[in-house]
Amino acid sequence: MGQLYIDGKFKDASDGQVFEVLNPYTLKVIENQSSASEDDVESAIEGAINAFDTYKKTTAYERADLLRKLLSLMTFGEEEIAKIMTEEQGKPFAEALGEVRYAASYVRWYAEEAIRVKGDLLAPSMTDSKMEVTKVPVGPVGIITPWNFPLAMFVRKVAPALAAGCTVVVKPAEETPLTAVKFFQWIHEAGFPKGVCQLITGDAKMIGKKMLESIGIRKISFTGSTGVGQYLMEQSGATLKKLSLELGGHAPFIVFDDADIEAAVEGAIASKFRNCGQVCVATNRVYVQEAVYDEFLSKMKLSLSKMKVGDGFNNVDLGPMINEAGFEKVQDHVSGAVECGAKVYYGGEGYRAESGQGGFLYEPTLLIDVDHSMKVMTEETFGPVLPVMKFKEESEVIEHANNTPFGLAAYYYTNNLGRANRVSEGLDYGMIGLNTGRISAAQAPFGGVKMSGFGREGGSYGIEEYLVTKYVMINY
Ligand code: ADP
Repeated sequence: MGQLYIDGKFKDASDGQVFEVLNPYTLKVIENQSSASEDDVESAIEGAINAFDTYKKTTAYERADLLRKLLSLMTFGEEEIAKIMTEEQGKPFAEALGEVRYAASYVRWYAEEAIRVKGDLLAPSMTDSKMEVTKVPVGPVGIITPWNFPLAMFVRKVAPALAAGCTVVVKPAEETPLTAVKFFQWIHEAGFPKGVCQLITGDAKMIGKKMLESIGIRKISFTGSTGVGQYLMEQSGATLKKLSLELGGHAPFIVFDDADIEAAVEGAIASKFRNCGQVCVATNRVYVQEAVYDEFLSKMKLSLSKMKVGDGFNNVDLGPMINEAGFEKVQDHVSGAVECGAKVYYGGEGYRAESGQGGFLYEPTLLIDVDHSMKVMTEETFGPVLPVMKFKEESEVIEHANNTPFGLAAYYYTNNLGRANRVSEGLDYGMIGLNTGRISAAQAPFGGVKMSGFGREGGSYGIEEYLVTKYVMINY
């Protein structure tokens, strides 16, 4: 059974409650996971608050050493944890392995960054005085993450928090707690002092409420839906917590007529179909300039026809959707678009996996003749559907791209330097991929604008989220 990790010990829930973790391909139970009681959550929060008093005094070199130990355990155990991830989340095993390496790259980066946090001595306005500015850890942090990247989503938060000197209470998604349990075995083995990292799983509302109510939790870092992000922001007002919110997106992908079309097809596939489209920075809508529209469609169709759908352990390109609700949302976006005049150019079918009571698969799907009245062009589909629309002018497509409440990621392909600069300036997004569908990296700032949230993960920007500025005026 998967357990909680509180005060340096793996434990069952105090009232013995558990919940089932399913394999989304077979829909069979993999394992039971402890469902934390209110007492457990309180102990975890209390433990993190107590541990902060001593952990914040450790040197950056000590914290860097702990992160390096964690990195070597992650590297050594990458296949083991990738297997757990494919089992509980469904993503192809190769992608799961890629996720472990991606997560490990953050641990490596923050092991190095821990010792580079520094302050300032300002020019004083009087003699015999000094003005000292330091960066200190914000305090114990509540970390809440979704199921689509069961490891990377919380490691991107945990690594900079631990490097900065914060303690953490991690609540991963109900769908994928087992990856987190494995990771916490490494946290334990790496030797982080008790209370520094706590793992709680179970009732999201109750756990969230306890974190929000605690005056000792000084920051919440959340990745997930915009609705829950808004709720956390409203509720954290009472204790004025610092917040980082990485929320939904609706990424446009623009192909100009001077672009390398084969590269654009490859980039769109990378950004759309990874993790079966269940990615916040996934392309949600494609705009292709009229002169290259037909070429883009035929090349895209050919590439999609080579993609395999099925069990993540079976060398496929697309695994199952996480659950029936996710599958139904995709069906609804496709059928809604077709009812309003869209045509299915490729794919368009969803079905149950062959193995008995199997989970939900959906073919890579290409829609044409779409317009902005359709949900698929305005709401996050979170599935393997690519709606493609023709456009004429640069200014027109920038307007379309920005016409959304979201502002997480956008992509575009062009080989025209002037256009490249104009479009990057014009797109109202936190992250932009120019001639690439892959943007995320440990050293780069990941995050959005508008309803996609605020705060950045990665690089020196990411550690700032866990630090506060402290000023001492010294007169001698
Ligand atoms: P998704 O639709 O991707 O599952 P959610 O925002 O529902 O996105 O979930 C992201 C994370 O937020 C999960 O860990 C989930 O358990 C948690 N969560 C959901 N509702 C709440 C809540 N009311 N308070 C705190 N956490 C929540």
